[in-house]
Amino acid sequence: MAEITLNAPALFGLSGRVALVTGAGSGIGQRIAMGLAQCGADVGLLDRRTDDGLAQTADFIAKTGRRSVQIAADVTSEDALADAVRRVEAELGPLTLAVNAAGIANASPCEEMSEDQYQTLMDINMKGVWLSCRAEGRAMLAHGKGGSIVNIASMSGVIVNRGLSQVHYNASKAGVIHMSKSMAMEWVGRGIRVNSISPGYTATPMNTRPEMVHQTREFESQTPMQRMANVDEMVGPAVFLLSDAASYCTGVDLLVDGGFCCW
Ligand code: NAP
Repeated sequence: MAEITLNAPALFGLSGRVALVTGAGSGIGQRIAMGLAQCGADVGLLDRRTDDGLAQTADFIAKTGRRSVQIAADVTSEDALADAVRRVEAELGPLTLAVNAAGIANASPCEEMSEDQYQTLMDINMKGVWLSCRAEGRAMLAHGKGGSIVNIASMSGVIVNRGLSQVHYNASKAGVIHMSKSMAMEWVGRGIRVNSISPGYTATPMNTRPEMVHQTREFESQTPMQRMANVDEMVGPAVFLLSDAASYCTGVDLLVDGGFCCW
């Protein structure tokens, strides 16, 4: 029998890799950026927030001994994303990992929703993910070292959230799931994997918006695990999909929803 060279723990390490995380100033993107650094990656941190969110992420990363670059930018700007990727590569090295978590949520009954409300959300949640992947993919294709991209979609791309009037949000997330699969297939022969994570209800600032707060208990009782996700619970799935442990996974949508979509 040939010698077995399996080293399972090493498969999950990200040492020496360079990542870009959008939405890294808050919530899921922030915690994933911190987790990637703990696994050994240097991380470019992009967010449009002007509070100290990015600085908090950067401080945490510095304490892990890894490097980061803070980039205040909007994912709806093609130029800003190209600049961000250039900066990350110039300061940290060739980009091989990306997590696109920047997104917004709001709600209005379909018949009352303005075109502006619809379009603004679509521009960020769907076009922003495409623009981000395109900028990241271009860099990965150019340096030829391959790469792994994870887009943060939502279980709202699979189910319709009972009691939430958000046709635009749900459609944007279904779009992110299928866009991720489509990009995965375009790049499958060129060393780039693209997957998505679809979180269930997760305790982040996004869920403190007024129309959600009073529904928290309902969300918990609708979830088979009877609770919302802690933001830390999105880190392991992201590390897995980005790492060599997922080397045969591409075009996957990983539901991380406490069982929600089973019922
Ligand atoms: P969050 O705490 O609000 O974090 C999202 C971050 O993205 C914020 O810092 C936000 O800035 C930033 N952002 C928004 N639009 C941007 C833009 N155009 N350019 C750059 N940055 C932008 O929300 P979260 O809950 O962590 O959400 C992260 C992702 O997970 C989103 O895509 C969301 O749809 C998805 N998700 C969340 C849940 C949940 O239950 N929380 C469930 C499923 C999926 P601002 O604060 O200025 O908007």
